[in-house]
Amino acid sequence: MTKPFSQTELIHNEYQAPQGFNAFSVPIHHASTVLFDNVAALRSKEWLDKNAYRYGLHGTPTTFTLEARLASIEGGEYCRLAQSGLGALALVDFAFLKAGDDMLLPDNVYGDNRGLSDWLSANFNITTRYYPPLIGSGIADLIQANTKLIWAEAPGSVSMEVPDIPAICAAAHAKGVLVAIDNTWSAGLAFRAFDHGADIVMQALTKYQSGGSDVLMGAVITRDPKLAQQIENSYSSIGFNVSPDDAYLVLRSLPSMKLRFEAHDAAGREVAMWLKGRSEISKVLHPAFADCPGHEIWKRDFTGAAGLFSVLFDARYSEEQTDRFVDSLKLFKIGFSWGGANSLAVPYRIKAMRQNWQEQGTLVRFNIGLEDTQDLIADIEQALNKL
Ligand SMILES: *Cc1c(COP(=O)(O)O)cnc(C)c1O
Repeated sequence: MTKPFSQTELIHNEYQAPQGFNAFSVPIHHASTVLFDNVAALRSKEWLDKNAYRYGLHGTPTTFTLEARLASIEGGEYCRLAQSGLGALALVDFAFLKAGDDMLLPDNVYGDNRGLSDWLSANFNITTRYYPPLIGSGIADLIQANTKLIWAEAPGSVSMEVPDIPAICAAAHAKGVLVAIDNTWSAGLAFRAFDHGADIVMQALTKYQSGGSDVLMGAVITRDPKLAQQIENSYSSIGFNVSPDDAYLVLRSLPSMKLRFEAHDAAGREVAMWLKGRSEISKVLHPAFADCPGHEIWKRDFTGAAGLFSVLFDARYSEEQTDRFVDSLKLFKIGFSWGGANSLAVPYRIKAMRQNWQEQGTLVRFNIGLEDTQDLIADIEQALNKL
């Protein structure tokens, strides 16, 4: 007997896959609509504390699992994902700042964090001030009655100064001010931000957590339930969300992150050490090297280094020459972001980025990928010969 095609049956299909499937991968749950068993469940507010589900925007088992794993890497308790590292920076600002407040940021802050802060200050009556990255406990003198949030980066973007986070946190906490750390460089592995006093930790998962140069994502992590609630309030008001497919990609990369990080660290130091011996290079701005401002603090507080560092070319070389160096690289590609298997080189006009940059010479930042280091060094050598 033929059975007519039923559109309804296609949608309300009764097949249930057998229970008991077990595998290492975290299931990818796609959902806008999340189903409730009954009206009472719909009306209950259990989902407010992440013990139940209400709507895809609020989270799925996939995103909750990634959040839990990231909190545990960082030694925190609570985590929320954002659609980029920049989104995570914004989530922190939205959670802890309101009109009339003041915020302090290091002068070497990640460029888009400066852009975000200047945008907040131009449009939302929030004042933003930039402090010298090595200020340490001297930050106390900059704290005003309306200062609510201090950002710090460990170490700073591009110029790599290592700040004294414990000193900044002690000064801030003495005046009731929160400190948020952009801990992306250490991936939460080489610097334990909470143990050094951070209230809020931010990660650009786009970097080592993804490791693939193909995903944008960020995270905000806290230990304190009151701070987590403030983040939750702004998170649920603003509509941030990440795709479960992207969350899966990061979940898949996390187990190898420590091994990759250590490989990037070893390769980075080897290439940096080689550059240190070259007469074309005046300074190696790598926290593990004595040339780098804050190197002593890195030795005290960090247990490793990322594969991301910068160099200053000797002032006798023009920007035209150092641009030619970058253009001559073959294995090193030109592009933003970092943390993937491919090595990258980017020249920065550092004088224009900073209020007070005293150093001479062009700056080039390297992301050391996972290629054989002798090939990377040979590539740099042939490009130096074209200077
Ligand atoms: C890349 C980066 C970010 C922003 O991450 P995106 O995902 O690219 O928005 C923030 N902070 C630091 C230190 C970064 O390197």
